[in-house]
Amino acid sequence: MEFKDLGLSEGILRAVEEAGYKEPTPIQAQAIPAIQMCRDVLGLAQTGTGKTAAFTIPMIDALAGGRAKARMPRSLILSPTRELAAQISENFVKYGKYHSQLSMALIVGGTSMDDQIRNLERGVDVLIATPGRLLDLFERGKILLADIKILVIDEADRMMDMGFIPDLERIVSLLPPMRQTLFFSATMPGPIKKLADKYLSNPKTITVSPPSSTAVNVEQYLVNVNHSRGKSAMFMKIYEQEDVKNAFVFCNRKRDIDEVCRFMKSKRLSCAALHGDMEQDERTAALNRFKAAEIQILVCSDVAARGLDVQGMSHVFNWDVPFNAEDYVHRIGRTGRAGAKGRAFTLVVPSDEKALANIHKLIGKKIDLLEMAGATPTEAPPPQPSVQQKARHHNRDQKQNHRHRLPPQDIEESDVNNGSFGDDIPSFLQKK
Ligand code: ADP
Ligand code: MG
Repeated sequence: MEFKDLGLSEGILRAVEEAGYKEPTPIQAQAIPAIQMCRDVLGLAQTGTGKTAAFTIPMIDALAGGRAKARMPRSLILSPTRELAAQISENFVKYGKYHSQLSMALIVGGTSMDDQIRNLERGVDVLIATPGRLLDLFERGKILLADIKILVIDEADRMMDMGFIPDLERIVSLLPPMRQTLFFSATMPGPIKKLADKYLSNPKTITVSPPSSTAVNVEQYLVNVNHSRGKSAMFMKIYEQEDVKNAFVFCNRKRDIDEVCRFMKSKRLSCAALHGDMEQDERTAALNRFKAAEIQILVCSDVAARGLDVQGMSHVFNWDVPFNAEDYVHRIGRTGRAGAKGRAFTLVVPSDEKALANIHKLIGKKIDLLEMAGATPTEAPPPQPSVQQKARHHNRDQKQNHRHRLPPQDIEESDVNNGSFGDDIPSFLQKK
């Protein structure tokens, strides 16, 4: 299947070619024809499978065929986070570059409402919005939703995690019942299934890989650490052995994010923080610098990083094992996107046992353990090849839960706590 077999406009075909796409991804190949036939779609696909183009491309085509200038928006794309909404709008511009008559408004919190209102007053075809700001502007009478013909709910499971279901229900109740609804989610927990049943009529269900599976292009490793204060030294050890081009580092708690970031800076690594307590312009700036490869490491929370697509991400580090098993799938899905290979390392302390068991249950396999000196005590192993050599070797024989050992190298507590923080020792380094 090629893009030209999908009956898309010349403009889209050119834009897609210029984006460097050779052929539609599986979800695109299945969703685009269904959307063109005005069917509702339930798309279940892991991150990095190209869902954004799967809905924006046929939407642009449909809108371009309609009337030239809309007075009222005809499509609404709902996204859980500001960053994701911004990313969708960038994609919209990319795929729609030869349909410049189409207009869109990015309706997200944390930025000037006046600019958004001015933009809306000019008349737009597509709204790309987070639920809160959309409702806010609707209640102020600044948005008309009576002409919405296509509704896209992206990352529905994350909407639920973020507590947006009531807002979502409210928004859907404001839309015309005669419309096309496209519903995308990486996972399908019970409440999301219910919502899909309620909003979709006779949908084409597209499952690209089993829900909750982890990205196949990601090599995953667990690294045991005796105590959370050993995490920074262990991180550095892995970092030094890996060829880290750019990486997401996930922390469970917001307050740890700044501390981890400070630690990285003390090691002269270029990094920035991204979490929900930051001002929107700081969040945008951090993300843009990361995308532009001005910084190498983004230390972030789950909420901030969900679904973000940054080109060629080589690594994901879980500083903490996520509390919620599905977050593991999303985190490591930041790498290994669109066919590229990625590597994911998860630092594990003894108290993570239960969370880890849940992850193993969810993904249906045991993640390989990478044994490193300074981790949980083991007998001194004979000298072994490097992490990468071992990992490559492992790929050949693909034995589950194969244990990788590295030569013992002492992790010095003094290295961990070498005074680079002065009196301001991060909590994860402090002796409990
Ligand atoms: P998802 O929403 O499923 O997580 P995205 O829509 O963000 O995935 O796409 C992931 C990456 O794949 C993006 O960098 C995008 O540019 C790229 N991509 C999308 N479609 C194709 C394609 N047909 N061929 C190659 N790359 C693609
Ligand atoms: Mg997406």
